[in-house]
This record gives sequence, structure tokens and C-alpha cells, in this order.
Amino acid sequence: GSFESLGLNNALVSNLRHLGYSFPTPVQRKAIPPLLRGKDAIIMARTGSGKTAAFLLPTLNKLYQEGIGTSTKLVSGIRCVVISPTRELAMQTFGFFKKYAKGTNLKACLLVGGEPFESQFAALATNPDALIATPGRLLQILDQVSYLRLHSVETIVFDEADRLFEGNLGKNTRQLVDLFFDSPSSGVSHTCQKMLVSATLPQALADFVQLNMLDPVLIRL
Ligand code: AMP
Repeated sequence: GSFESLGLNNALVSNLRHLGYSFPTPVQRKAIPPLLRGKDAIIMARTGSGKTAAFLLPTLNKLYQEGIGTSTKLVSGIRCVVISPTRELAMQTFGFFKKYAKGTNLKACLLVGGEPFESQFAALATNPDALIATPGRLLQILDQVSYLRLHSVETIVFDEADRLFEGNLGKNTRQLVDLFFDSPSSGVSHTCQKMLVSATLPQALADFVQLNMLDPVLIRL
């Protein structure tokens, strides 16, 4: 199989070719088709499997469709949120987003701790399509930026979810989930597509998944 035969658009396929991705990895082959159909998914995969492209490519494909051939975006507002447990992972994912989205007008905004707020506020003001964030910093930003609305979010990804939901980070992530789905003001639509990527699936995660996902497909190798 090729990336084209999985149903990805030409702009993305061409970027992948330039990056030297000849064939989809197993997790990409399994995850991309259902994700393109809009399914919620639990993806059991670890770093090195190509998991980032497995969730980013269908997401970019969806974001890009409405914007084809237009210099001004037809849809504005934040349409995708990726939550990562560490700043390093978020930065890596942000790097992949830029590579995969090259030549499109899709833009991501990186919101991680240890960086000044000012530059992140400035990045938010440029109307990004996607936020790639760590839980603590995203909570701080949502608290401070009252104009930041999540009504237009169509896709939420919890990457390395086993780490996201454990220990102190887990408190922040749960608070974020409550804010996303249980607060009328921030208001992420319950029908938005949800992806959970995790190397393992502990009970706490299984509970979370049942609460928030609609008939998710389970992708495991
Ligand atoms: P990840 O599991 O997302 O951390 O990706 C691991 C590495 O695999 C990254 O350096 C990607 O650039 C690379 N990669 C992902 N998908 C492919 C592919 N289909 N072909 C070749 N390399 C890939």
C-alpha cells in the first residue's frame, strides 16, 4: 500500500515523498483510513512506530480539504488540539506538523512551559489552525486569554496518554478534559473527533476512553 491508496491528498503525499517516506508504517496503514472517516480511535503505539504521522496526517488532511486553493481560510478558529506530556514531545510534533503541512496554509501554534508567554500570545493572535500543547501551559493560557475559544475544535489528540494521565500531570490533564467537555463557556463540541495514543492501556485510561469517546476503533499491532 501507498500513502495515496490510504486516501491522503496530493499535497500531503508529495510532502511525504520529499521527506523520504516511501511506504506507510504498520500503525499508519491501520490508523489512517478510519481516522480519515472521522472515527474516534485508541491507537496503541510507541515512539518509533510512526505514530505521530498516523494521527497528524489524517488530521491535516481534514484541515486542508476546506482550504484548498484559497489564500484566505474558509474556516477560522482553532480546529485541532494535540496534548503532549512533555515539552520535548510537543516540540517534535510541532516540527512534524510544519514538515507535513509544507506548502499548505495550515499553521500550528506551540504552547509549552519554560517559554515566555508573550511570544505564545503573539502566535495565538495569528489565527492558527492547531494548538500543540502541554497540559500545564495550555491551562494557564486558557485562564489568561479570554478570547480563546474552542468551539471550532474538530479534533483532539491525547499523545502518550499513559504519561498524560499519570501523577501530577494527570491532575492537569483531567482539569483540561473537564474544561474541554464539561464547561459550557470553553465548549469543545462533544462530536469532535478524539484520538488517544498510548503505548499501554491502564484502567484509568480505559475509563477515560469510555466516558469521552464514541464507539472508538482500537488500533493495535
Ligand atoms: P514517531 O513514532 O512518530 O516518533 O516517528 C518515528 C520516526 O519515524 C520519525 O523520525 C519519523 O520521521 C519517521 N517516520 C514516520 N513515518 C515514516 C514512514 N512512513 N516512512 C519513513 N519514516 C517514517
